Order: sequence, then structure tokens, then C-alpha cells
Amino acid sequence: TDATPTLTPKPWISGIAPYVPGKSAGADGRPLIKLSANENPLGTGDKARAAFAASQAAADALSRYPDPGANELRATIAAKFGLDPARVICGNGSDELLHLAAGTYAGPGDEILYVRYGFAVYEIAARRVGATPVEADDRDYATDVDALLAAVTDKTRVVYLANPNNPTGTLATREEVQRLYAGLPKNVLFVIDQAYSEYLSEAEDDGGLDLAKTQPNVFVTRTFSKIHGLAAERIGWGYAAAEVISALHRIRLPFNVTRAGQAAAIAALGDEDFVANSRDHNARWRAWLAQELESLGNHGVRVVPSATNFLLVLFEGEVSAETVYNRLMDAGYIVRWLPGQGIPQALRMTIGTEAETRGLAAAVRAALAG
Ligand code: PMP
Repeated sequence: TDATPTLTPKPWISGIAPYVPGKSAGADGRPLIKLSANENPLGTGDKARAAFAASQAAADALSRYPDPGANELRATIAAKFGLDPARVICGNGSDELLHLAAGTYAGPGDEILYVRYGFAVYEIAARRVGATPVEADDRDYATDVDALLAAVTDKTRVVYLANPNNPTGTLATREEVQRLYAGLPKNVLFVIDQAYSEYLSEAEDDGGLDLAKTQPNVFVTRTFSKIHGLAAERIGWGYAAAEVISALHRIRLPFNVTRAGQAAAIAALGDEDFVANSRDHNARWRAWLAQELESLGNHGVRVVPSATNFLLVLFEGEVSAETVYNRLMDAGYIVRWLPGQGIPQALRMTIGTEAETRGLAAAVRAALAG
């Protein structure tokens, strides 16, 4: 036999399904109106754009490494949210921070728990480190705290909760988050992924940051990709106890956030008008779109209640989600069809500009009519 060793990915890596990014152009190459990635339809605020441009204009903008500690950005975040800057960590998108949590606290033989229809990165982050992903049952697409607690074992090391959740859009209340936290063993890191938290009203705040301020095993993550309109620059941040943050730093890439991205994010935090306008726009057109789609209930259309900048829309009638997806693409709109996440009956639709949202509603209506 041939004893030559061959190159073999670790079995847990081979078990990861290849990531299939959403399309942004039709089959004929025609650009589509993109309502598939929960980006800000109003773009980026003027202050962040200006800071980004100024940073890029510096003579050494490309030749020098960015600040590896993102010190000014961390200080700005800390001042804004009343936090200890030493306990803020910045990431290459919050995606990186979610991966760091798994890589720091879990490995082969351990379990990482999240709700069914959780954010797609959780499974990849678990498998990447050889841990076993465990999915708790949902409750009609919403987070079921009892199901999550029932799925905890002595192997559980990380629990991810996106709140509000993607792709369902649902929000667990402050009481539910507290009950979940209270039921977890102290050797579990509770990650509260608040990528969409800026879309919430004050009354909807889930209290995650308060928990992270006071508890030893809570890690809250946020992003500049959504309401701040900086998805291209890949900037996220997180907050946890000092011991957790210093452990995460051990495996973080040293220069993980670009220089212009740091500058843009600092300016974005100072642009409260842009954030407020984005939130108001979203609330108005999310309510409008939900009502339009709910009026198609005779076609089996159902809208899951959303606290985010997108709607999860179920097609339970004669015309399937896949058919609607394809017809929307023919009409010039790309939304997210979710067979890979176990919801082939659903489309996830980002709230766009007024014209995009009105156009999308009309296109869905036409798609159902045949
Ligand atoms: N968490 C959730 C729930 C998300 O929907 C997203 C973006 N799709 C992220 C985290 C990651 O965002 P980013 O890496 O751009 O910060």
C-alpha cells in the first residue's frame, strides 16, 4: 500500500457546508434591487463618510498598519454606552467576535447551543473548533427559553442568542433573557448578539449590556454593519468581564479592523440624527410592508412579528416561497430564500427605501397572482 501521507482537512472542517452567498445579480447579469442582506437602505451617514474619506486621504493611509488596539474607537464606544474601555473588544465584523467566543471556550467534545433558526454563523463557529452544534426547538419561529434551558448539558460551553434574531426577526424580552441567563451554569459563556439592537425602542431593550456589565460570563456583541451603514468595512464590538476579554484577545488577529473603518465608526457614533432617521424610516416601512403582506393572507402569506430591519415572510399557500423568490428575481428584486437554514417555506425581506419597499410589495402581489 501507498504510505504517502495525504492532505486531509480535519473531519469537523469537512462537516461544514460550503457557504453560499446571496446573489446580487440576475442570471442575465442585470443588477437587482438588493433586499437580501439587511443593509441600511439609506446608505451611510455623512459624518461617517467624511471621516472615512479623510482617513483614506492620508499619505500613509495604505502603508501603515491600523491601530491594533482600536483604542480611540473603544474609548468612543465606552463613553457612549457608559462602559469600561478596557472591557470593549473590536472585531472584523461582529462575525469575528462570535468566532472568538467559540474558539476561546469550546473545542472537540464540547457543545455549543443556540435556537433552531438561529444566525447561520453559530453552526460554522461551533464546527470550526470541533465542537458539537446543538439546536433547541423554536416556538413558532420565536426563541423558546425553556427549550434552550432543557438542551443545556454538562458539555455546553457557549450559548448564542441573537436578540433580536436573524432570520426570524423575533425578540426575546428582558425577562426571558434574564431567565435564560439565570438558568445557565456559570461555566457557560452566554453570548447575546445584538446586531439589530439599535432598531429597538427603549422599552424593548433586552438588558444584555447590563448583564455584561455585572456578570462574569456574559458577552454582548454589536455591529456597525446594520443601522450605521458600514457593512463594507467590517467593524463589530463586544463587551464582557475583563477575564473574558483578555482571553478573547489571545486568539484575535492583531490588526483586525481597518484604519478607515475605525475612523468611520467613531464618526458614526456621533451621528445621532442618521441613526434616528434610519430607525424611524425602518419602523414606518416595516409596519407598512407587514400590513401589505398580511393582506395577502388568502394566499397563505404570514408575517412573523419583527423587531429588526427585515421581515420573515412565510408562504404556506399554493404558491411556494421558492416560486415567489424566482418571480421576484424576474421582477428585479433579490430577497433571501432560506432552504439552507431549514425554512424553505420562508423568504427574508430587508426593509428598503420607500420606492423599493412599495415596489417589492407590488412584486410579491404579482408573483402570487401568477
Ligand atoms: N449577528 C447577526 C444576528 C447578524 O444578522 C449579522 C449580520 N448578518 C451578524 C451578527 C454579523 O454582522 P457583521 O459581521 O457584519 O458585524
